[in-house]
Amino acid sequence: MPLIRDSGTLAIRCFKSVEHCADRLTGAAGPVFVAICWVLIVLGGISFVDVIIIHKPLSFLRLIFLPIAILILLNLYSQYYYVIRTPPGNPHSVVEEIKREAPWMIEKGSDREHRGMLADGTWAGEKLRKCGRCLGPKPIRTHHCRVCRSCVLVMDHHCPCQYGCVGLYNQRYFVLFMAWLSVSCWTFAILGYQDFWLSMSYKPAWVAVTPPISFTLIWVLSVALGCAVPMLLVWHIYLISRGETSIEGHDNDYFTTKAKERGVTYINPYDLGSRRHNLEHYFNVGPGRLPYYTLFMPFRYPPSTSGWRFPLHPIALSRRRRNSEVPEDDRYGNVVVGDEDEGELTDDEGGGGGLWSEDQEEAPWT
Ligand SMILES: [Zn+2]
Ligand SMILES: [Zn+2]
Repeated sequence: MPLIRDSGTLAIRCFKSVEHCADRLTGAAGPVFVAICWVLIVLGGISFVDVIIIHKPLSFLRLIFLPIAILILLNLYSQYYYVIRTPPGNPHSVVEEIKREAPWMIEKGSDREHRGMLADGTWAGEKLRKCGRCLGPKPIRTHHCRVCRSCVLVMDHHCPCQYGCVGLYNQRYFVLFMAWLSVSCWTFAILGYQDFWLSMSYKPAWVAVTPPISFTLIWVLSVALGCAVPMLLVWHIYLISRGETSIEGHDNDYFTTKAKERGVTYINPYDLGSRRHNLEHYFNVGPGRLPYYTLFMPFRYPPSTSGWRFPLHPIALSRRRRNSEVPEDDRYGNVVVGDEDEGELTDDEGGGGGLWSEDQEEAPWT
C-alpha cells in the first residue's frame, strides 16, 4: 500500500511539474504570438488596400464600399490593440469601492443581515474572499490565472495570442476583435477571389506592389481563419447569452448534471433570464446603457459593472433578497441556484484562501 501511495504522490508531482512548465512556456511565448498576430493582420490590411482597393478601376460600388472597408480595418486594428493593451481587471482596484459601498464585506465578524445584496438589487457575496494562491482579494466571479500569477475579475480564459487574460475590462474587445476578424477574412476572401486565381497563374499580369505569392498565402490564411474564428465567436456568443464565462461554463455544466441527478433544475445566478439581457449586459449596450451603434465604433467603452457586484437571475434575486421567501409554486420550488461557494471548481481545488483582510497578519479569522 505505501508503494501505491508513493507512486500516486509521484505521479501528482510529475503532473504538477508538467503543468507548471506549460504555464511558463505559455507565458514566455506570449510576445511571440502577439508579434505574429500583428504581422499577419498588418500584412493582410496592406494586401487588401494595395490589391483590392487601389489597383482596381474606380466605380460607383467601389466608392460606396470604401468607407465600409475603412471601418472594418479601423475596428480590426483598434479592437486588437485594446484587447492586448487593456488590463483584464485587477481585484485590488475594487477594494476602495467595496469599503465605501459594502463595508460589511471586509469588516471583521459576521453580519449575515446583508446577505450580500446591495440597495440596487445587485449581488456581491457575503464576505470578500482571499485567493489561496496570490493572497489578494477575490470578489465573486474572480479567478486566479496560473500563467499571469494573479487574480482576474470575471476571468474568461488566458489567451496566448494577446499575452494575457480575457477578463472584465477587455472581454468586449476580445469578442469584437473575433467578430471583426471574421468579417475582415471573408471580405478579403470574397473580394480577392479573382486576384487569388490571378496570383496563382503562370506569369500573372500583376500590377500591385504586394508580391503574388504573398497575396496567395494571405488569401489562403484568410479562408482558413474565416472558417475557424467564426466557430470560436459563435461559441463565445453562446456562452455570453447564457450569462457565463468559459470557466463558469465548465462549472455550470457540472452543477447542471449534478442537479439533474437529484431531480432538480440548476440555475446560473448570473444568467439574467433572457439571452438578449445577458448580451446587452456583457456589451454594456441597450436601454439605459451605451447605444447599440457603439459595437461598430473603434473606441474604448467601459463594462457595465465594476467587477464585484452583479445583477442576478430573477429567481436567484427573489431568493437572496433580505426577508424574501422562496416562491412556493412548482416553477420556482424545484430549482437549485448556484452560489459563490459552488463556483470554485476551476481554480480553488486546494480549498480557497479564506476571507480577505487589509491587515492579513492580524486577521486570525481568515
Ligand atoms: Zn489569485
Ligand atoms: Zn492569464
